[in-house]
Amino acid sequence: MLGNSVLVEIKNLRTYFHLPEGTVRAVDGVDLTVRRGHTLGVVGESGCGKSVTALSLLRLVPSPGRIEGGEILFYRTVEEAGASSALTDVIDLAKLEPNGREMRSIRGNQISMVFQEPMSALIPVRTVGSQITEVITLHQKVSEAEAREIAADMLARVRLPKPRQALDDYPFQLSGGMRQRAVIAMALCCRPKLLIADEPTTALDVTTEAQILDLMRELQKEFGMAIMYITHNLGVIAEMAEMVAVMYLGKVVELTDVRTLFMSPLHPYTRALLKSIPQLTDAVTRGGKKPRLQTIEGMVPDPYSVLPGCTFHPRCPERIPDVCDRVEPGVSEVAPGHSVKCHLYSSP
Ligand code: SF4
Repeated sequence: MLGNSVLVEIKNLRTYFHLPEGTVRAVDGVDLTVRRGHTLGVVGESGCGKSVTALSLLRLVPSPGRIEGGEILFYRTVEEAGASSALTDVIDLAKLEPNGREMRSIRGNQISMVFQEPMSALIPVRTVGSQITEVITLHQKVSEAEAREIAADMLARVRLPKPRQALDDYPFQLSGGMRQRAVIAMALCCRPKLLIADEPTTALDVTTEAQILDLMRELQKEFGMAIMYITHNLGVIAEMAEMVAVMYLGKVVELTDVRTLFMSPLHPYTRALLKSIPQLTDAVTRGGKKPRLQTIEGMVPDPYSVLPGCTFHPRCPERIPDVCDRVEPGVSEVAPGHSVKCHLYSSP
């Protein structure tokens, strides 16, 4: 898996929000790699910085947030007329004008995003078809009629019933699950190299969620695209991701493959997150009595405060006195492809 080629490399990304109350370091030194055709899961509680990382990648961070530093290297493939093979060039998305020509040609085309709430991606007073064809004509040299054909084909691929008819439907005429399928069709109509999915199934019932996850996996195989899957739901991560980054307060605290994450998690925060998932076996072993869910001690600290040492130390059951509250841990590679940001694993 690690030998696969890199599509996006995020290096020491810092995205801060400067508010009258203080500065929120929403993303504070994040390093991540997305490989072509693979799925990277990004998991953590609300406010851990996972969505802001995605918005930074697309250069859609809302004001007063801004990228303060770091790199977002996008290794894009350039098909050159007459060349026997495609070339790859590297562009630092963090340096582009958010609304400049180059970023607009990448966003929605080579990198696209599906949000949690489909209504936030669809304009309620315009038909689904007009919104999808607009994305297609913006990025591809095709006529309006050809764009409509591509849109109908894509709606069929996401298995929207009566796709041609759905082109003329308004978003409110579709159910929640159907709207999310339409949004996925819109995100995939230009065959992106990377799809960022930010909690795309949270608002859906479990049956529809399972169908949407299956659909995304199928389309990923068909289009060979990478997915960055952002969620707080570890069950979804288990189904979707190959590599997983666990984020806490704007930092990646553990990065590993999905099997290791569930079988041998190392960071105390990852272990606490896993213990907070209800297990079916708990109820069985307790004779059918409802198990008590384990919670993570303490509260997520005030977002304006800058904690010395490890940001998890006020809640960590394994904190080392006079070390964890003073010295920020570095990132230690404990095995190939498995890194942890914790003093328990730092080399002496
Ligand atoms: Fe806990 Fe210390 Fe590790 Fe932070 S560095 S997670 S406080 S043991």
